[in-house]
Amino acid sequence: MTFEEIKENEQKYMMHTYGRFNAALVSGKGAVAKDESGKEYIDFTSGIGVNSLGYCDDGWVKAVSEQAASIQHISNLYYSPLQIEVSKKLCELTGMDKVFLCNSGAEANECAIKIARKYSFDKYGQGRQKIITLVNSFHGRTVTTLAATGQEVFHNYFFPFTEGFDYVKANDADDLNSHINDEVCAVMIELVQGEGGVMPLEQEFVNAVDKVCKEKDILLIIDEVQTGISRTGAVYCYENYGISPDVVTSAKGLGGGVPIGACICNKKLSDVMSAGTHGTTFGGNPIACAAAKEVLSRVTTDEFLSEVKAKGEYIRNKLAEMGNVKEVRGMGMMIGIVTEKDNAKQIAAKCVENGLLILTAKNLLRLLPPLNITYDEIDKGLSILKNVMEENK
Ligand SMILES: *Cc1c(COP(=O)(O)O)cnc(C)c1O
Repeated sequence: MTFEEIKENEQKYMMHTYGRFNAALVSGKGAVAKDESGKEYIDFTSGIGVNSLGYCDDGWVKAVSEQAASIQHISNLYYSPLQIEVSKKLCELTGMDKVFLCNSGAEANECAIKIARKYSFDKYGQGRQKIITLVNSFHGRTVTTLAATGQEVFHNYFFPFTEGFDYVKANDADDLNSHINDEVCAVMIELVQGEGGVMPLEQEFVNAVDKVCKEKDILLIIDEVQTGISRTGAVYCYENYGISPDVVTSAKGLGGGVPIGACICNKKLSDVMSAGTHGTTFGGNPIACAAAKEVLSRVTTDEFLSEVKAKGEYIRNKLAEMGNVKEVRGMGMMIGIVTEKDNAKQIAAKCVENGLLILTAKNLLRLLPPLNITYDEIDKGLSILKNVMEENK
């Protein structure tokens, strides 16, 4: 199929839910993807923060293909040594206590929301069910996680949304405290708002959230779906803030390119979800677990984390010297660029034409490169970006 035919058939057979860039990607290695014509693209996206080890990393391919040839799926009616290994590793990495494995970020957040409400129901009875999230947050696309998402644009068409969410302004402790009452069972936040425009929260505000949650037995849920798995230079971003959440949700980068999510809770919540209260057919699939095991063994060493920080710094420094750059923000290799001309969408499309895959978030350019991208690949990508920025400033 030619690209034009691909585009035509996509329109013909698929629901029109995505605005896509003009590229059809069919293969890749490391931080380089190839389209149907053989044209190469440097990848600053990792999918959307999914391919932690880039395209078709040798160790990852081996882990996934060997697992596919060994056993591809068992139901959750049987024990799975691989699920246990992945869960144990996540507990060791976080110091937390129990894991529920699922298939996506939204599902991990659904599990966190259910834990919060059941914990509160078990302990305090009905009526303490409200969950506070932040204005400009993003928590997923299910009807409940859309309700959790603190952006009005997402609260359309699909009425009625799940009740029991309240939104406070990020970095506004007064607004937070004025929303705390006897109905609140949890606060759920991203520490760097990803889809909301790569907005790191202020330490002081995060401390205030942590404090009020601890004082009032309100659960602190950190949505690490995008920030997790070493993206910000720590395995989970909450480590950067020195807090200890009750629940952490993880997905995107966890499987390195296959669907897997995890909801991780601390000891206080270990027994909240009892038999029959939650479940999933696919969650903890052996192939996904084999992939996650490989990713976790590779991206969580001190040496690897230092590399992520160093590469993030390197990219940031180069961006600071580039034309059309107004502001660079983010953490580790989660980077947002505000452009002088407010033309991120146009820049991103031009980059794709010129052989660089790059994301946007709101009106920013967003970079989520594979965590193991090489400096050579970074330089190639930045030089394409630089040219496009100079031509469109
Ligand atoms: C992507 C994302 C989600 C949703 O994850 P899906 O796997 O698309 O369901 C939830 N929270 C955050 C912070 C995300 O970035």
